[in-house]
Amino acid sequence: MELDKMDENDWKYHGEGNKSLVVSHVQHSRVLRVLKYPSEDAERLHQTVEQASRHIQNIVDYSNNVMKPLLGEQYVHSGEVVKLPLDFVRQLSLKVQQERPELRCDKVMDTFSGYSLCLPNLTQLSSCRFEDHRPPLCVEIKPKCGFLPFSRYVTKECKRKVCRFCMHQHFKLANGKWNRISRYCPLDLFSGNKQRMYIAIKHLLEEPQNNFRIFKGGELIYSCKDDAKQQPDLNELVQHLRPYFHHSNGYYNGHQSSKTVLNEFIQVVCSALLSTGDSACPGELTKLQTPESRAYCEASPLHRDLLRNANQCLPKDCVLAKILQAQMLDNLDIEGLYPLYRRVEQYLEEFPKERNRLQIDGPYSEGFLEKIKNCPSEDDGSVDYAVGKVHQYRVAMTAKDCSIMITFAPCGEDEDLQPNFEIQPVKPRFTYSVSILDLDPKPYESIQHQNKLDSKIVNYYLKSTHSKQ
Ligand code: ATP
Ligand code: ZN
Ligand code: MG
Ligand code: MG
Repeated sequence: MELDKMDENDWKYHGEGNKSLVVSHVQHSRVLRVLKYPSEDAERLHQTVEQASRHIQNIVDYSNNVMKPLLGEQYVHSGEVVKLPLDFVRQLSLKVQQERPELRCDKVMDTFSGYSLCLPNLTQLSSCRFEDHRPPLCVEIKPKCGFLPFSRYVTKECKRKVCRFCMHQHFKLANGKWNRISRYCPLDLFSGNKQRMYIAIKHLLEEPQNNFRIFKGGELIYSCKDDAKQQPDLNELVQHLRPYFHHSNGYYNGHQSSKTVLNEFIQVVCSALLSTGDSACPGELTKLQTPESRAYCEASPLHRDLLRNANQCLPKDCVLAKILQAQMLDNLDIEGLYPLYRRVEQYLEEFPKERNRLQIDGPYSEGFLEKIKNCPSEDDGSVDYAVGKVHQYRVAMTAKDCSIMITFAPCGEDEDLQPNFEIQPVKPRFTYSVSILDLDPKPYESIQHQNKLDSKIVNYYLKSTHSKQ
């Protein structure tokens, strides 16, 4: 990429979240991730170029030095900071404006600093050895928090029975964020139980919200509709998927039912989520749940017996285990963490210069990771303990907000399938790659917000479920 010869016509709108907008290159497997700001603040906030550069470098450092060691080398691609010509960024911003979903337009792209992140396009396969006429499929899952709080500081009993995602759904529905409740429950996805995972993915398909997307050849083909009242079209999706699964049960020419196609698709996603990339030792399982915490959520629509008998067991080092492990660094829950945050606040009021030594706003160096790893398990009343727990909590927040990208393409081995092989059930073979994206540091100050949000969600849940009974 020649930074002095950037042309907005080489890039197109790819997607966006709450914090950044992503464009992809029309030929090369690259994306640019540009930060966004609330539009009413854009001029006023107008941070200095140095601040913008620091901010984006912090994102890369955090991903490289903190999240990558915790989640695993193979899953994390931190990208690099690039300084783009301002002209290019302005043109790009104009070009993509019409493609942006309305609900995201409360924020605008940073067109002032020119700083952006360049990343591999994870919806494409980098090492696709097999030439195939079928472009790669990519499934993006934002799994959210996969465990119930086990902290002794939790005061509301319902938090031990119903997971945060399921409670939050009621709150979002009431606030008009979504028009329908999602039946997806993260505890089912993180269960490691194939049946439960299958149903979790099925629920994501039925109501993707911002937790599920599918790309084909880098193009978004399935996601929640911009018009929130509309449901995405599963039949249309099946048309896309059929060529990838057409002879997997032996009927080469036969038209498989939609159900079979979706079934096979979900199976592939499940096995990618459980794979450890190391076929030599597939058997190793890890039990991440602490004994006092139950592994199912009362709000999950699954049958009780299935939930009760399915203990949480994930293959060690599979992407879900890695994410869950990082999420569980939140072992005090916000209720136990908040007093420690207050302790840090008070200390900083008295000794503002200590902010740097304590690395409150970075730098996200190896030293930061050490603080997280070496945090004592018991509170000794020190500010260092409090800071360690605050840092751990922030890492957990990042892990609760990240996305998994599963990209797969047919290997082409089944291309020569002869009619006489038809009777044999031939499993489709796919090469796939699994990555984790959106690993930005969550600001220290957001803990204040988390604390308020937690009680709002819980109180609303209690109110709304009680009034129904
Ligand atoms: P959130 O609101 O979830 O915090 P965000 O604003 O931090 O999101 P990202 O999640 O990093 O932004 O990116 C927005 C979307 O762009 C992603 O959901 C994904 O679909 C797409 N995307 C981001 N990075 C890549 C990448 N490297 N390759 C392909 N697609 C990407
Ligand atoms: Zn749940
Ligand atoms: Mg995101
Ligand atoms: Mg993000």
